[in-house]
Amino acid sequence: MNNINVTRSSMPPFEEYCEEIKDLWDSRWLTHEGAKNKQLQAELEHYLGAEHIELLVNGHMAIELSLQAFGLEGEVITTPFTFASTTQAIIRSGLTPVFCDIDPVTFDLDPAEIETLITPRTCAIVPVHVYGTVCDVEAIDRIAKKHGLKVIYDAAHAFGVTYKGCGIGSFGDAACFSFHATKVFHSIEGGGACFHDKEFGEKLYRLKFYGQSGPEAVVDVGTNAKMHEFSAAMGLCNLRHVDEEIEKRRLVAQRYDEHLKSVPGIQLKAAQEAVRSNYAYYPVVFDGEIFGADRDAVQAALKGHNIMARKYFYPLTSAFACYHNRFDPAQTPIAQRISQQVLTLPLYPDLPLEMVDRICEIVVNCKV
Ligand SMILES: *Cc1c(COP(=O)(O)O)cnc(C)c1O
Repeated sequence: MNNINVTRSSMPPFEEYCEEIKDLWDSRWLTHEGAKNKQLQAELEHYLGAEHIELLVNGHMAIELSLQAFGLEGEVITTPFTFASTTQAIIRSGLTPVFCDIDPVTFDLDPAEIETLITPRTCAIVPVHVYGTVCDVEAIDRIAKKHGLKVIYDAAHAFGVTYKGCGIGSFGDAACFSFHATKVFHSIEGGGACFHDKEFGEKLYRLKFYGQSGPEAVVDVGTNAKMHEFSAAMGLCNLRHVDEEIEKRRLVAQRYDEHLKSVPGIQLKAAQEAVRSNYAYYPVVFDGEIFGADRDAVQAALKGHNIMARKYFYPLTSAFACYHNRFDPAQTPIAQRISQQVLTLPLYPDLPLEMVDRICEIVVNCKV
């Protein structure tokens, strides 16, 4: 039997993609802001409700180059409860991460704690909309304005999420999406940074194009982070189906909820008011003592049935070996506890509901 993985890439009909890439054999324009890039950019601005979006080779470079395009220096307040990319982008940009604890219900940065970590060296806040749950964008905006800080959201999990009817990419000075193959919407590999400020956009564009401002002028120390046309074509196809895919995800998540919502010792992702969710992930927090089995035991039981649930996110990024104990994960005790108790169950649009039933049966039977 094939493994049931935590996620599975959405694919458009094969013929639709072939049709979409046909033009490329005529144009011979395969990258460098070609027609597919331009079309995807316009369609994503519309879909995401973003003023501007710059397309990039992946979500990681959207974060890294956004940090660099703001010319930031000093300390960045951020969460350790995230994928490696967020923290690596901060450190690779020569900035110092200052880890802030998370809210135990939303798993996103706790705004009250952000304020206590601000120093004269703080230049920005990098929150993550973890699992697509919306950060307290209003409180974060207030804090940032009061202290003159930039806000760069890692919105890699939040494609298609809206808050009070506004696209999640419209919040912050920049919001960075990942269009990686495993995400709700993808262009195989890819990413995008949403922003408001045109000057920032020009700098971001130069940074992804080797720092060039013209054929004979290089004004920034840039890199190569362009999206190519075959990726953009995949994005155009997937965008046509993304709403159906999100609806299918909703049904899967609802089925999980039905089985798990009243089980003692299990905490689920809380529904948020005024939020249109994208059902990107299905994290479950196990309180081992109440539930009767700990997270690792549940993961092992599922693995015994070829069901590959994942520890998103464990360990905390502040505990990574590459940082040589520079940070103390114990300083964010809630994040530390959640990272030790959380297991993300398989969720993708065509996961059969009977498989959800089976997964839940295995989970519930772990209780000793
Ligand atoms: C996927 C992801 C990224 C990085 O995106 P890529 O497109 O894979 O480079 C960054 N942050 C988070 C939280 C992610 O899940």
